Amino acid sequence: MKVIDLIEAEKPCLSFEVFPPKTSGNYQSIREATEQVAALRPDFISVTYGAGGGTSDYTVAISANLQEKFGVPTLAHLSCINSSHQGVKKQLDAMRAAKIENILALRGDVAKDTPPSEWDYHYASELIREIKSYGGFCIGGACYPESHPESPSQAQDIAHLREKVEAGCAFLTTQMFFDNNIYYNFLYKIREAGITVPVVAGIMPVTNLKQIKRIIELSGTALPQRFRYLLDRFGSTSAAMKQAGIIYASEQIIDLLANDVPAIHVYSMNNASVAAQIQQNLSEILK
Ligand code: FAD
Repeated sequence: MKVIDLIEAEKPCLSFEVFPPKTSGNYQSIREATEQVAALRPDFISVTYGAGGGTSDYTVAISANLQEKFGVPTLAHLSCINSSHQGVKKQLDAMRAAKIENILALRGDVAKDTPPSEWDYHYASELIREIKSYGGFCIGGACYPESHPESPSQAQDIAHLREKVEAGCAFLTTQMFFDNNIYYNFLYKIREAGITVPVVAGIMPVTNLKQIKRIIELSGTALPQRFRYLLDRFGSTSAAMKQAGIIYASEQIIDLLANDVPAIHVYSMNNASVAAQIQQNLSEILK
């Protein structure tokens, strides 16, 4: 099943994200965690690829397992910055053989020790063109409602986003945001710039204080005052923080759905209990 068809269906689309194991040592335990998320039967599951700069040997295996065992369509992430053309081709062959139909095509984060002259890829758009010419996949790309951290201006970021979409993206998924107005403003600006594909809203349920500190460091995501108060008040009590974080994310999602956003992606990070509670909070709304 192609992700674009799920996004364009009449019913709102809810997807969850999982990450694969880094080593064979924890393969079994991580696979089980991803299976618990798939057992909730979201519309699709996305499986990350070597976030933090590396590649991943397990994205395809985890995606294939979830599709086979649970019949849930998967969106396999694939980054290119630390890969060769040959390495990408190998991944595409493996995905095709595993009947994976959807790829989130990313640049990835730059490994500082390799000079740019030795890179096979510089931007996600190059990977997207390559996947497009390989054929058969529904391709998505990443977008940044608060701009990509390396971008000198939002106007330039959006101009590059347009090039990326024109290279062959059927849809975009956003970086997380904690204030829906940021998403609405971004949507207005990209539509003005001629980007017409659906934009899946990426929502992160923050369930502990350490996690949010790291997120802000990495992405520069803005925290609204309302959310800061919640962190100050509940951040030191893990059960209270988890409950507050899930309710905050659920409220964001309800507002997005009320404003006809067609698809929500939850950064559930292998945490089935968080994903299940969000799903429960939306049970009637998603029908
Ligand atoms: P690009 O679209 O290539 O953009 C990167 C930067 O280059 C931007 O500043 C853009 O404006 C600029 N740019 C683009 N084209 C040009 C051009 N022609 N000339 C000059 N500048 C240009 N990382 C992982 O490693 N694994 C994952 O699984 C993963 N999943 C993600 C999922 C989502 C939904 C998101 C939002 C991010 C994810 N990331 C992941 C992080 C992502 O790899 C990083 O944010 C990375 O720094 C940028 O990737 P990109 O695909 O957005 O890059």
